[in-house]
Amino acid sequence: MSGLTSAEEAAFTESLRQAEAGRIVPLALDAPRRGRPPKHWADLDAEERAQVIAELGLPKFRAGQLSRQLFVRLAEDPDLWTDIPKDDRERLAARCVPRLADLVRDQVADGGTTVKSLWRLGDGSLVESVLMRYGVPGVRASGRGRERATVCISSQAGCGMACPFCATGQGGLRRNLSAAEILFQVIDAARRLRDEEIPGGPGRVNNIVFMGMGEPLANYNAVLRAVRTIVASAPDGLGISARGVTISTVGLVPGIRKLAAEGLPVTLAVSLHAPDDALRDELCPINTRWSIDEVIASAKQYFLSTGRRVSIEYALIRDVNDQAHRAEELAAVLRGPNGYGWVHVNLIPLNPTPGSKWTASRPEVADEFVRRLEIRGVPVTIRDTRGREIDGACGQLAASETPTN
Ligand code: SAH
Repeated sequence: MSGLTSAEEAAFTESLRQAEAGRIVPLALDAPRRGRPPKHWADLDAEERAQVIAELGLPKFRAGQLSRQLFVRLAEDPDLWTDIPKDDRERLAARCVPRLADLVRDQVADGGTTVKSLWRLGDGSLVESVLMRYGVPGVRASGRGRERATVCISSQAGCGMACPFCATGQGGLRRNLSAAEILFQVIDAARRLRDEEIPGGPGRVNNIVFMGMGEPLANYNAVLRAVRTIVASAPDGLGISARGVTISTVGLVPGIRKLAAEGLPVTLAVSLHAPDDALRDELCPINTRWSIDEVIASAKQYFLSTGRRVSIEYALIRDVNDQAHRAEELAAVLRGPNGYGWVHVNLIPLNPTPGSKWTASRPEVADEFVRRLEIRGVPVTIRDTRGREIDGACGQLAASETPTN
């Protein structure tokens, strides 16, 4: 189900095209059509899967067997599909399981509990994903609380949203990822946790955040297909709760409205970073297309239709958006008819990126910002900066190698 009429869809695409004009790093919503990855089993819906199986002349139940191998047993290697006759394995692998990505390197921090992986996709595009395990006994750097694991994944190679404080935003958009290329990052993390490659014994993925490279709502269909497989129960998917999935957006209003109509209780995060349009136009250039009022209205509507509290992301940038009066303005902007029950503010101390003139707020300034919000009753937390020393923290994913073409 889509929340938009086809006329609205067309207007969405057109307005993004217009928004491209006049930017140093141009805004780009329509991804270049280069290097379309080969179709993978995870890119297909149930009907398309049945069709492929029929074309291969295989019994229908091979579909469920293949899904189980890929999404439940996390086995990409056909040699491991021992419930399928060898001949059929080879044909299925050749047709439905193209190699999607090669690991270029891992960077490890926090006593092994943060791992940033750089992947080279089939066409040479580079993307990064970050696995973070928390609450591992004996590993102090993993933090306190119950044991859990989050994987931060990319939805595009690069990003077209041009936010000047974000490393990915500075490189422009290379292309959209396919559903399989998105899902693959989750599967890899799940496999590493299961196989005890991360300290803390066998584990599983609890949370998935679309906070890596790219603007997920600018690659809507592939993101949704990946999410549907993440939340589907075995054998069709990974069986991870939709409540554990967070889609973070710079504020593509039609995309937020469309997502609200999907009937999927995923968490929406909105990267606001400023309470007033003049400043937000600078920090998030897409604001020139959809203003703060429009973004907040769609976020409130998201809460009403899903019952999911919306996260507001706010990177605290020294002397740019961290003044006490901006905290007051933020509280005013976020106020709903029933107060603040619909929202949660996540403050992120800015992770400075190379060449940026901006840096993180002073701790006492950040504390005052928090205090001002708390006084008004706004639920607020300061996000930790896991993986900072490996450039794996928010906004630092930039894939420093050069793509191969
Ligand atoms: N395009 C999506 C996902 C971006 S990454 C979005 O805009 O939400 C996830 C979060 O990291 C966003 O809130 C983004 O604004 C924030 N971010 C980007 N660069 C950052 C930086 N240098 N320091 C702190 N947070 C940053």
